[in-house]
Amino acid sequence: MILRHSSLRGVRLAHHTRQLAFDSLHRRPTHLLHTRLCSSHPPATSTAEPAPKPPADHRKLGVQQELFTTSVYSPGSPILLPNGARIFNRLVDFLRKQYVRYGFEEVITPTIYKKSLWAKSGHLENYAEDMFTVTSTSPSRADPADPTSATAEDEEYGLKPMNCPGHCLIFASQRRSYRDLPIRYADFSPLHRNEISGALSGMTRVRRFHQDDGHIFCRPMQIEEEIKKTLEFVRVVYSTFRLGSYRLALSTRPADHFIGSEEDWASAEGALKRALDASGQEWTINEGDGAFYGPKIDIVLRDSDGKEHQTATIQLDFQLPKRFELEYTAPAPEFERRGEVTTDAEALAEYGPVRPVLIHRAVLGSVERLMALLIEHYDGKYPFWLNPRQVVILTVNDSEPVLDLANATKNTLLGRGGSPDIPLSNPTLFSVDIDSSVRSLQLKLREAKSKGYGVIVTVGPRQVPKGTITADLGRLGGDDKIEVPTESGNRRKPQHEEMTPSVLLDILKEKAAAYR
Ligand SMILES: [Zn+2]
Repeated sequence: MILRHSSLRGVRLAHHTRQLAFDSLHRRPTHLLHTRLCSSHPPATSTAEPAPKPPADHRKLGVQQELFTTSVYSPGSPILLPNGARIFNRLVDFLRKQYVRYGFEEVITPTIYKKSLWAKSGHLENYAEDMFTVTSTSPSRADPADPTSATAEDEEYGLKPMNCPGHCLIFASQRRSYRDLPIRYADFSPLHRNEISGALSGMTRVRRFHQDDGHIFCRPMQIEEEIKKTLEFVRVVYSTFRLGSYRLALSTRPADHFIGSEEDWASAEGALKRALDASGQEWTINEGDGAFYGPKIDIVLRDSDGKEHQTATIQLDFQLPKRFELEYTAPAPEFERRGEVTTDAEALAEYGPVRPVLIHRAVLGSVERLMALLIEHYDGKYPFWLNPRQVVILTVNDSEPVLDLANATKNTLLGRGGSPDIPLSNPTLFSVDIDSSVRSLQLKLREAKSKGYGVIVTVGPRQVPKGTITADLGRLGGDDKIEVPTESGNRRKPQHEEMTPSVLLDILKEKAAAYR
């Protein structure tokens, strides 16, 4: 397979406004809303005052903290280093755990699909310029039994920019009843969009990224409940990150060029408004700003510099279920389509096909872009659970008993004990480093602090007989109250604590489990 640096060829944009509307389906990860407030950064006119600290830049921090790099061999595709991969995986793992509550089932879907799929989904017509084409260098390997492989054109694949068509294929692969709905699929697949090379930068202007993508297939009468749950999900996630307040913006039916009846739109917008009211959050309305295929809700965060960032999106879609001819069977289909309930026995005796409503939703949005936001927001002072450098063990000297204690401590903190003949069942997945260099402890301490370790542990010869360590937990919590058990059974705030590695492990586990 080769990747051609071009969009799917032979396709013209049908209509510029449609392109714009289609773009917002899964908004590009690159479009941060730069509405920097002029007043927040006045020019430095007085030399008497110290220059304000420049806003954190995730690209600089990415280098300093060894989070990610880039390569000329794959422009716009960030290469996550071990520290960056830790943050990424923790975010994904955090989302996965929340899926248990919100009823999402994860699916794993292809990266490339034939051009004919992109024709069906409408991407060829509306999104081709943003897509990469993939072709086989060996046409002779085409499957002769495949009727779609008859022409060279059908040998062409598109690299997916979105997961929705794949999830529609899954929905369509079985007969569905109203009892099966809602069906909620989640997907962390990498996505590729062909951004202009001049615009590529860091983790925010990229060609390859991942979304915490989800698609909800539901009955018309379930829209409001699903939106409510999604807004609750968003609230829980963003309060965990402590990114500050955000606003919700509802975009409604465009004045012209929309699909579906005005009645459908009015009822869907009504459901979204009721869900927004019920959320108790501040929300605004962007009249006529919806995509042609359905209304949507955007979540807009404002950072400490006054910059606004669109992250989560909830988008209703009347279009894709139609294009993919999705349906489920329900009693009283006429009522069901309008989202109405009936007790009329005659109507209920009739079973028929009804089109499901599709809700696209992403809570983090682009995982990479959210990472960039978090990296800048925390500015090196990560909460423990997300910190790529959680624990460092500094040795006072390099004698063998001290090194042994350091290694044993590391094993305990990693949950690496037990027989090597059976698989590990409870690794903590903490990141634990040892600095056993022969430099002075002062120097090692200073370096550990500047690297941003959450917990600094020291081990020396005095502690070897007792098997204890000294843990500095002062940097663990920021504004959090960390408490350690005392001999009398009370709890108190720690400083430099003498404890066993397993007591430290318990403290850290508690912290990580609370996402603090
Ligand atoms: Zn989607």
